[in-house]
Amino acid sequence: MSSCVFCQIVEGKIPSAKLYETDSVLAFLDINPINPGHTLIIPKRHATSIFDVDEEDLKECAVVAAKVARAVRKATGCDGMNVLQNNFRVAGQIIDHFHIHLIPRFENDGFLTSWPGKPYGEGKMEEMRKAILEHI
Ligand code: 5GP
Ligand code: ZN
Repeated sequence: MSSCVFCQIVEGKIPSAKLYETDSVLAFLDINPINPGHTLIIPKRHATSIFDVDEEDLKECAVVAAKVARAVRKATGCDGMNVLQNNFRVAGQIIDHFHIHLIPRFENDGFLTSWPGKPYGEGKMEEMRKAILEHI
């Protein structure tokens, strides 16, 4: 049996509150929701993160995320929604199986709405752009 919790959900070895599935993707309710209706979208084929997920699986995850997001919005009457995806511990990833969070947001729900940004120093934005371009 897989040691990955989400693979076990895909295999039906751990129960989940399923919302939608296709041949390659599954959507189900998060067991510990930030707000009610908090949903996870996963590829059925195991991938750890954005860095190794199969491209076709990723496309299907995006399509399913948008479809389910509309249903969650209607069902919860939420005022907005965060679509989040964490990669590795430093970024808050706990389950090492690629997943997209749909988090319904409500006025005055008390959660973070923005992270503080800081401008690039002189020439640093262009430096960063070039450094990234070398790898695309
Ligand atoms: P991460 O921090 O890795 O981005 O988020 C993992 C999410 O998976 C958390 O929101 C957590 O509540 C959810 N989760 C962990 N284990 C289970 C489980 O067994 N079933 C369901 N439905 N959700 C889970
Ligand atoms: Zn897995």
